Amino acid sequence: MAAHLHLSSPFSTGLPLKSPRRPRRIPSRSSLPAPVSARSASRPLRAAVIGGGPAGASAAEALAGGGVETYLIERSPAGSKPCGGAIPLCMLDEFSIPAHLVDRRVTGMRILSPSNLAVDFSRSFRPGEHIPMLRREVLDAFLRSRAQSRGAHLLPGLFTSLEPPSSLSSGEPYLIHYTSSPAPGTLAGTPSTLAVDVVVGADGANSRVARSVSAGTYSSAIAFQERIRLPPEKMAHYEDLAEIYVGSDVSPDFYGWVFPKCDHVAVGTGTVMSKPEIKKYQAGIRARVWSKIAGGEVIKVEAHPIPEHPRPRRVVGRVALVGDAAGYVTKCSGEGIYFAAKSGRMCGEAIARIWNDNSKDVVTEEELKREYLRKWDREYLWMFRFLDLLQRVFYGSNAAKEALVELCGDEYVQRMTFESYLYKRMAVGDWRKDLGLVWRTVGSLAKAGIMGKEVERLRTLAEC
Ligand SMILES: Cc1cc2nc3c(=O)[nH]c(=O)nc-3n(C[C@H](O)[C@H](O)[C@H](O)COP(=O)(O)OP(=O)(O)OC[C@H]3O[C@@H](n4cnc5c(N)ncnc54)[C@H](O)[C@@H]3O)c2cc1C
Repeated sequence: MAAHLHLSSPFSTGLPLKSPRRPRRIPSRSSLPAPVSARSASRPLRAAVIGGGPAGASAAEALAGGGVETYLIERSPAGSKPCGGAIPLCMLDEFSIPAHLVDRRVTGMRILSPSNLAVDFSRSFRPGEHIPMLRREVLDAFLRSRAQSRGAHLLPGLFTSLEPPSSLSSGEPYLIHYTSSPAPGTLAGTPSTLAVDVVVGADGANSRVARSVSAGTYSSAIAFQERIRLPPEKMAHYEDLAEIYVGSDVSPDFYGWVFPKCDHVAVGTGTVMSKPEIKKYQAGIRARVWSKIAGGEVIKVEAHPIPEHPRPRRVVGRVALVGDAAGYVTKCSGEGIYFAAKSGRMCGEAIARIWNDNSKDVVTEEELKREYLRKWDREYLWMFRFLDLLQRVFYGSNAAKEALVELCGDEYVQRMTFESYLYKRMAVGDWRKDLGLVWRTVGSLAKAGIMGKEVERLRTLAEC
């Protein structure tokens, strides 16, 4: 299959492709040529990235930038992922996101307890610090088009199945079966096949790629959100303010939110343990914010699963999972955009690096695990575990949620929280203040009647 050897590819000189080429259709594996060693054939490594959200777009950008022939398959390039759209401040610089893509710069973050005790959680923001809020349709389209400008080929289409090689060590390709999006004026798409050396599964929480390689399952939350256009005087309240609501009326085990966007607010909630009742909790968050959104018009209703923890297997053969497909969303905050983009980039760079350094001409499972997975776990596993623990301690009951809100009033807690959230780095605290914080935490929990198991968990946390 000459189309996949690209003997005269510009990649052989290390330059990215300038103009996208359509992949040839491959009818069946039996018609494929004998495997050819990639390097000896002087052709670039071929990668398919399934899913063009922040994870897939960032992976594709890194792969194409590293000289890999990259195909990015996205089923709905004009769609919008249901999402609150809050990102950490560091993501703007780290991913060179232009300022004009940001809808709102939130400098006020209010958290409200089950008894409606309101605490201004953002008092410790320093000048210039804020939480950028974006619409996902805007962010994702930008990231995809940047990947294209680096040389990735965007293939609008629905990935349907993956055919693995008969032997991984043979260098035989993976076959990606997908239905390319219908041409204008037609109803049905075209069944298509693409042969690649390596696959990145970035197709979100319902990942078909993960299923195809038996990566194992994870428990997930369901998140529900309404986008509500407010009258100008009501929108003024949310000019640069976001609100977080906790309480069993809005969620038994998560929180409800009001996040401001360009001309509307996103009002939503989530739960793991009571998914069938999600609409009841959405009614709960609506009731809590009723006076502030009255007169608003619902312009969109959306819902989507959120993974709760990483999958049992995130690299299988020459297939790597990133973003939600891998399960990279933190507990407690439900944050996943940054981790999706970061894992996509990390994985894409790892593949390109392995390929460029490789004297053996193959990208192996072991190399993917070493260069992507272990590096990821070293950097972020502690953060995921820590936030998991906090969620268990503080989201368990209304009393614990009251204690959480009380603690959020503490300026030291705020500084440490935002230092970690905004900059995605381990905040370095002062041990005397840390000790004081543990005391205040235990005190708040005790006052709220949360003794025993939770206090024991916190003690373990303090000892870590
Ligand atoms: C309601 C809600 C609110 C949230 N709010 C926030 C927030 O404020 N901040 C935050 O950081 N995180 C938030 N999250 C989490 C965040 O949305 C995800 O973690 C993030 O989108 C993960 O990015 P991703 O690229 O891994 O996956 P996705 O964004 O899900 O992208 C997957 C892409 O793959 C495509 N795809 C799927 N299947 C196929 C297929 N078979 N063929 C081709 N393409 C396919 C999809 O169309 C999609 O574009 C929220 C989630 C929800 C549900």
